[in-house]
Amino acid sequence: MTLTEKLFRVLNRVNPRVMRAAEQTLKAVPGVDARMEQEYASMLGKLEHALKPYAHEFDAYAELPPSGRAREDILREMQELKEREAPRWENGFVSGAVYHGDPPYIDFLNQVYALNSQSNPLHADLFPSTAKFEAEIVAMTAHLLGAHATNEIVGTVSSGGTESILLAMKTYRDRARDQKGITAPEIIAPISAHAAFDKAAQYFNLKLVHIPLRDDLRADVDAARRAVNKNTIALVGSAPCFPYGVVDPIPELSELAREHGIGFHTDACLGGFVLPFAEKLGYPVPPYDFRLPGVTSMSADTHKYGYAAKGASVVLYRGRALRHYQYYTATDWSGGLYFSPTFAGSRPGALSAAAWAALVSIGENGYLDATRKILETATKIKQGIREIPELKILGDPLWVIAFAVASHHPQRTSSREGDDLRSNTLNIYQVMDAMTQRGWSLNGLHKPAAVHIALTLRHAAPGVTERFVNDLRDAVAYVRAHPEDKGEMAPVYGLAANLPLRGVVSNLLKRYMDVLYKV
Ligand SMILES: *Cc1c(COP(=O)(O)O)cnc(C)c1O
Repeated sequence: MTLTEKLFRVLNRVNPRVMRAAEQTLKAVPGVDARMEQEYASMLGKLEHALKPYAHEFDAYAELPPSGRAREDILREMQELKEREAPRWENGFVSGAVYHGDPPYIDFLNQVYALNSQSNPLHADLFPSTAKFEAEIVAMTAHLLGAHATNEIVGTVSSGGTESILLAMKTYRDRARDQKGITAPEIIAPISAHAAFDKAAQYFNLKLVHIPLRDDLRADVDAARRAVNKNTIALVGSAPCFPYGVVDPIPELSELAREHGIGFHTDACLGGFVLPFAEKLGYPVPPYDFRLPGVTSMSADTHKYGYAAKGASVVLYRGRALRHYQYYTATDWSGGLYFSPTFAGSRPGALSAAAWAALVSIGENGYLDATRKILETATKIKQGIREIPELKILGDPLWVIAFAVASHHPQRTSSREGDDLRSNTLNIYQVMDAMTQRGWSLNGLHKPAAVHIALTLRHAAPGVTERFVNDLRDAVAYVRAHPEDKGEMAPVYGLAANLPLRGVVSNLLKRYMDVLYKV
């Protein structure tokens, strides 16, 4: 047994508050830090080779090469790297990540990028075309999300879903401070809301109050009602949430926010370019957008199902006055009058050009088609999962499908000794590892332990759904027959899901990032 496993066994049954105190005490014990460091290294050592596959094959640079390498040489090397990496997403083995991926479409976006590669919207005077693209991206997105004929819905382009969410939360913080004098701001979000809300809370000194989910994995509105207090600045709901792909009860949540005169943010990063079309196609889509009067901001990712190149998202607000709290201005800087709408200063205008080109080249018909394909694929995948008796689908998702071990089936999420010997138990993370062995890249979820696949256009290609369902059935059978094969990630996920020492888990993740930055 490793030290972490021993720790886990002892500590798993202790109350979390006692645990936090214990964690502080443990840190002070001489030698514990060093032993933990060895433990982290041994867990990550197994992953390092997967994360650094090129270590022995390609030159690594820890300093500038004395003289520059030939451009053709660099292009040749990148071509080789791409050819190794692309087949996985090209052939539909990957959850999310690359949402469109047809070669002629990629070539088109690359041309758009090339034409605009020098653009920087910080210099709107030099690149008015980029300002035009961004204004129109915002307007088209707002129109999709319930703005209709009014011009009351405004927004900005950002670098991604996380930035859109951070911006909206900062905006509410600054408005509440200005208009209500709130100095200890709180936001309320379901536990299924994206980690970006937690990140916003950390960065901007907000208290994030988590509310639980109901049995259908949608936010518990009564819990939200109980959580509102005089320091609450905004409520959050997802359309849909990342883990389970279900849409929160946005009408009730946004009304609650409206009653209290606070903001409501619909996080439609994932659904902003799917749900409007799903609704038109007649799928059951509950209300979630600006047609609800209580919704005061939204995020929608052009770089997900908008099929733009990575690095583009949209944040929308009800009213210019609210958007003003997002903007930054410096009037006394020796560098001159300075202003920027988002976090960055200089920005890649080419990515906005590519996002505009994506929206305009695909058009309403294109998005309807894409959405139809993805939702039809989802129906087949859901059917396939339902036919595997050991598994169950969580909630009632449209196209981001989470599955776990069926409740009637003996399950196991820890890597505790002894469990491995019991026959018939199934660890969903080992199923995920067995899927990785079969070429798949799925997302591990925890609390509860589950795995999801976010379906994209890559999965709509012929044969992909069948391959997924067959591989999943084989993976489940393999894990049942070989419970002793712990796999690569299962122990890490098991630890992350079960270890009460959250600081230890956080340290492990930090060391994982250290590995990524190792030359
Ligand atoms: C992807 C996603 C985000 C964050 O987006 P990034 O582009 O990865 O920063 C936020 N919310 C939801 C629901 C998402 O799916």
